[in-house]
Amino acid sequence: MQIRNPRTGEADFELEVCSTELIHKKAALLRASQPEWERATVQHRIAVLSDFAAALGDARATLIDALVTDTGRYHESVLEVDVVINNIKRWCGDAAVLLSMPPARAGQIPFLEITQSYLPYQCVGVISPWNFPLLLSMVDTIPALLAGCSVLLKPSEVTSRFVSPFRQVLASVPALHRVFDVVTGTGETGQALIDTVDVTCFTGSVTTGRKVAQRCAQRFIPAFLELGGKDPAIVCEDADLDVAASALCWGSMVNAGQSCMSLERVYVHEKVAEVFIEKLTNCVQNLKHNFPDVTAGHIGPIISSAQIDIVKGQLADAKEKGAKVLCGGEVVELGGGAYCQPTLLHNVTDEMKVLKEETFAAILPVVVVTSDAQAVQKANDTEYGLSAAVFSRNLDRAYSIASQLHAGAVSINDASLTALVHEAEKQSFKLSGMGGSRMGKDAIMRFVRKKAFIRNTGTPSPWWF
Ligand code: NDP
Repeated sequence: MQIRNPRTGEADFELEVCSTELIHKKAALLRASQPEWERATVQHRIAVLSDFAAALGDARATLIDALVTDTGRYHESVLEVDVVINNIKRWCGDAAVLLSMPPARAGQIPFLEITQSYLPYQCVGVISPWNFPLLLSMVDTIPALLAGCSVLLKPSEVTSRFVSPFRQVLASVPALHRVFDVVTGTGETGQALIDTVDVTCFTGSVTTGRKVAQRCAQRFIPAFLELGGKDPAIVCEDADLDVAASALCWGSMVNAGQSCMSLERVYVHEKVAEVFIEKLTNCVQNLKHNFPDVTAGHIGPIISSAQIDIVKGQLADAKEKGAKVLCGGEVVELGGGAYCQPTLLHNVTDEMKVLKEETFAAILPVVVVTSDAQAVQKANDTEYGLSAAVFSRNLDRAYSIASQLHAGAVSINDASLTALVHEAEKQSFKLSGMGGSRMGKDAIMRFVRKKAFIRNTGTPSPWWF
């Protein structure tokens, strides 16, 4: 399969599409190795994953190069590799405590003693998207491996160049490679993977997430879904407007807006709207594309070709319905790649696609509101519920607004913090996802089944015949 380069627009990479037979064979090999991995102590698994983190560190430059070609951006690719290495180290520090068994305890019936144990699923399937190809491939994989599961990963076809150097790193840690493998291919590869695993962790769009959930339901296996968002930000009249403008400029434009937790709507109080919009515009119009030097600038190309028409369509729809373009407003071609100009839109209305649908680009619509209540009502008027942001100098007010927002995580006086903070447990509300938190303690507990041993300590049970 030919894969397009987001900087040149040319198909310059050939991807192997794994056959269903190969996927089944790999899954069978993983299943054969998993019992030994499970029996080994958590300390053994920590040691193996620590070796893997070190090997990733040794291959850092090669991995970054591949990710830069996959995604057309430099700084986020560096961040991806470093965050993955740090995440492995963090999980290795926490896993032993998180997986320690609770002590035996007396039950409600005095002569019964209850002991709990954690039984890992044998084989976890991970399906990841193109916007953070390595990071989102590893976010569920690391805790699953530490819990004692084997993992079969299917990254997005759009950004699969990193798989080859990644496989080389994996091969250098044989103890891990026996329980962790990668298959490449298309959506059909993802479907075939679901048919071979015991749990599916899926990160991607709502449309595909629905198909994944249905397929998992057919097999009665858990599906943990992390899906799209339309994250709102609320700027109160008492907010520090310099902080709000800088944070929102970053939270909406970083990675060219191609992040699930990207801020995609701002509701600002009318009393401060004019000053805030001026500050935000000054900030956004200073952003530059990373062309021709990939290491310079701030805004990379639109990575997925399918996304180009969606972004153009939303801009055209907004303009047609009367939106005012404060800056940017076009998708431009540079060297064969498609780049969205950092865009701020004003006079946007609820009928516009840019306020309703996930945008996934460097576009931020600004809406003026007359009260906190109106801001909350509009922020919640969406089928998504991933995360949100609130700006106010009054913390009681900020927390009160945050608690009314239908979203799994709310940044206060900052933006998109869930991208950086992995300890805070949060679930995705509404169509943004399903299942336990992929952050914090809950993340590792998703990969074990809880099993109970209930012992009669010596009293004949009164209910016996
Ligand atoms: P998609 O849903 O298109 O694809 C995600 C993955 O699923 C890809 O590996 C894809 O393969 C695979 N896939 C496609 N069809 C099927 C199928 N029928 N069965 C199983 N797997 C399938 O998402 P995108 O790659 O376009 O990613 C962007 C989306 O991801 C956005 O909506 C974004 O918000 C969301 N996202 C959510 C995050 C979160 O934490 N909530 C984080 C990051 C992104 P292939 O690419 O080869 O077709």
